Amino acid sequence: MDRSAQTFLDGNAAAGELRDIFVLELSTATTQCASCGKIAAFAEARVYGMEPGLIARCSGCENPLMRVVKSSGRVWLDLRGLQFLEVPTSSV
Ligand SMILES: [Zn+2]
Repeated sequence: MDRSAQTFLDGNAAAGELRDIFVLELSTATTQCASCGKIAAFAEARVYGMEPGLIARCSGCENPLMRVVKSSGRVWLDLRGLQFLEVPTSSV
C-alpha cells in the first residue's frame, strides 16, 4: 500500500484519543522508533485512522509505533514499534 497518498494527522490527534488510556499527557512524550532508532516527540508521529482504531507511524521510516483499537468496551494497545516511550511528569 502506498501510504504517501494517504492523509494523516499528527500525534496530537492520537494523544486526544488516548487520554482515557494513559493518565499521563502523551503529547509531551518522547519516543524512539524500534526500527530506525529515530528519537522524536510523539506529536511528530503520523497518525492514520481514528475508528475503531488508530495507528501512529514513525515520521522517519513509517514503522508502526503504536496501534490502538477500541471495541466492545475494551482497548487493545500494541507498542511493539517503540523502543521506548518517555513521558515527563511534574512530580520529579
Ligand atoms: Zn522509524
